[in-house]
Amino acid sequence: MMYDRILVRYGEISTKGRNRNKFIDRLRKSVKRALRDHPNAAIKAERDRMFILLNGEDSEEINRKLKDIFGIQSFSPAVKVDKDLEKMKDAALELFKKIHQPEQTFKISAKRSDKTFELDTNEINSEFGSHILKNIDGLKVDVRNPDVTLQIEIRKEAAYISAETIKGAGGLPAASGGKGMLMLSGGIDSPVAGYLTMKRGLEVEGVHFFSPPFTSERAKQKVLDLSEQLAEVTGQFALHIVPFTEIQQAIHKQIPDNYTMTTTRRMMLRITDALREKEGALAIITGESLGQVASQTLESMFAINEVTTTPIIRPLITMDKLEIMDIAHKIKTHDISIRPYEDCCTVFVPSSPKTKPKLEKVQNFESYFDFEELIQKAVEGTERIIIKPASEREEDPGDALF
Ligand code: ATP
Ligand code: MG
Repeated sequence: MMYDRILVRYGEISTKGRNRNKFIDRLRKSVKRALRDHPNAAIKAERDRMFILLNGEDSEEINRKLKDIFGIQSFSPAVKVDKDLEKMKDAALELFKKIHQPEQTFKISAKRSDKTFELDTNEINSEFGSHILKNIDGLKVDVRNPDVTLQIEIRKEAAYISAETIKGAGGLPAASGGKGMLMLSGGIDSPVAGYLTMKRGLEVEGVHFFSPPFTSERAKQKVLDLSEQLAEVTGQFALHIVPFTEIQQAIHKQIPDNYTMTTTRRMMLRITDALREKEGALAIITGESLGQVASQTLESMFAINEVTTTPIIRPLITMDKLEIMDIAHKIKTHDISIRPYEDCCTVFVPSSPKTKPKLEKVQNFESYFDFEELIQKAVEGTERIIIKPASEREEDPGDALF
């Protein structure tokens, strides 16, 4: 007998009180999507855990897919057995024989939520431990640092035996917490910021500012490719492409050189906020990290942020570049981000941007020109496209989460 199911632990969802069912339902959808190539696997979502019944599907392949799903704390391939002591011992031995290597040490770790079961946890540990020792030669118990921990869990309906606890991605289930607009450049940081926000259950739509002919089609393609990678999480990713050329030209005409960067960011934020309202989203997400570049000093953020009271989520704000790059590698956006094509800001970058812009000054410079009209025009000219993950490009798109 090898594994017949995978037991999935929810982690943080367990603290969700009345909303728990909604979270569990979202997680069930994520799992269903991830396992779309395993039609025999059946998902049974219960209040305190989820079971994936394998029905002959390969547990290792499914393990690999479960690792990336937000909302899963950990999971264990397991076998279900009737609560008959002899049957349980046989099943434990059989499983142990299949997974253990010579010279490995082991221990039994019993857990009992059914308190009416005939043995308590200590008794289960010694009963099962000695059964295995008796039947396999040269085996040693090590309770401190065992190579294999055989878990025996006694619940009301049955007993479950497993030998491995695999760490999940953590976080909250995709699209369980409302929507935010991610300001997505072609750089390393903003895709990571998007991913980390998705991890907390937010549905994320991208907003990209595009300034043709100053930025090339290849720069845009980079953002499309990043979006494709982000789409892996939920099955699709909506990207808003904002025509930004006219505004950038107006900024360069109207605003003193050392303040163009500050105004550019303020205009981007105003447009993103207008798109946010249109989409019914409640937050804006950026890839800003404190002190990284001129636009990310505290003074700059203060002057830029003034254009809106919408919550701005900055998941990377206290991270170092190396930590951010590390995540970018893990989520496979890094190599796309480092392609050399310019984005709209590098083209217009002033020779010496103010690192400590003054709010009153930037407000004053902007007051001589009607930016609002150009903002409206950019919002109206924005194209919204739905992007599918690369892994689904050639096949049936499956069930997207929304
Ligand atoms: P990134 O690596 O994400 O490009 P960065 O380190 O280059 O960030 P900035 O250029 O100061 O930093 O940009 C700060 C944030 O502003 C970005 O993380 C992104 O959220 C947003 N942003 C910058 N340029 C654009 C753009 N062309 N379209 C959309 N958002 C942008
Ligand atoms: Mg950038």
